[in-house]
Amino acid sequence: SHELRTPLNAILGFSQLFGMDPDLPEDTKEQAREIERAGQHLLSLVNDLIDLARIEAGKLELSPEPVPVKAVLADSLVLVAPIARKQGIELTEVVCHCNIDQATVRADYVRLRQVVINLLSNAIKYNRPQGTVRLSCRMNEGKVRISVADTGPGIPADKQSRIFNAFDRLGAEGGTIEGTGIGLVITKRIVEAMGGSIGFESTEGQGSTFWVEFPASETVALPAPEAAAPARVPEAISQPTSRPVVLYVEDNPLNLRLMQRIFATRKDLELRDAPTAELGIELARAEPPALILMDINLPGMDGYEALAQLKADPRTARIPVIAVSANAMKGDEERGLAAGFIAYFTKPLDISSFYDALDKLIVRPAV
Ligand code: ADP
Repeated sequence: SHELRTPLNAILGFSQLFGMDPDLPEDTKEQAREIERAGQHLLSLVNDLIDLARIEAGKLELSPEPVPVKAVLADSLVLVAPIARKQGIELTEVVCHCNIDQATVRADYVRLRQVVINLLSNAIKYNRPQGTVRLSCRMNEGKVRISVADTGPGIPADKQSRIFNAFDRLGAEGGTIEGTGIGLVITKRIVEAMGGSIGFESTEGQGSTFWVEFPASETVALPAPEAAAPARVPEAISQPTSRPVVLYVEDNPLNLRLMQRIFATRKDLELRDAPTAELGIELARAEPPALILMDINLPGMDGYEALAQLKADPRTARIPVIAVSANAMKGDEERGLAAGFIAYFTKPLDISSFYDALDKLIVRPAV
């Protein structure tokens, strides 16, 4: 995977430099930006392919545990909210026929969240201006179904059978929406590896609803079905926060929980997280945080590549990035600082010097 991505780093890095060079004529800069866009596309294709190859080779590592559905849905919404906001799409959550506070499924938390995020990002991408995306959940006959409904163009009936084919974008390759045509294949594989199923209904011109279903891991007494009451996403999710945001890019749920605990004592800061470097970068571009904490060993792109991409993009170049790594070998810290991390922390964290670093690095808006 390294060999596939390394040459792309040079292509992306230099094309970005050319694209920003004030001494170059405008049309040359535009051509450089064209190379960069093509390179970014190739990079996401390579990353998806690596993920898919890993899954096909049976190397999908899952740690199944009882996962509260409500927490996964809330987490996923927080993660995609900035992207929806940027596209002018309204995100709503509807809870129906399901005692969602208690519903749990047996799944891998991070992978289940990846599934919901994939469906939500498709619903945001393939939508109409000012469209809506509705995330809902219900329990029926011992199964929990999570659905994502959009108000997009829908999928024509004659193309529906191709939706889970790798690299088939059903004609979207001719349009402006970026994609690789592998997202849904990966999603399907992950869902099935966790004992679930996936499907969709779609009406051309009206929209699509993609759903995933898993056996409930605990039987919960069903309340009488009530009319579904659409609820707006709470302010905290749909509105930018006033507290400085720290974005933690980390794939391991245990490390994430630990960091959440560390931040629980810091009510002055808001911790957000992303399970992959790719998503972290996207979030940082959509809504630049005050500080980024970056794990080094991540699925797909690693922390070093992510740092290089953040630094190369004018939207994110100034955000301080701290490496938080399990690599505690001699020379790792020097390498990290040389690459441009502002500080290099190894796990387990020395929490008091970590707090000091937070206080030193986070620039608070003047009040
Ligand atoms: P990508 O989005 O990278 O192209 P996916 O595997 O996620 O790949 O989706 C495959 C194709 O299915 C997309 O290119 C698009 O044409 C179609 N598609 C996926 N989700 C939706 C949706 N919510 N509404 C309409 N079309 C969709």
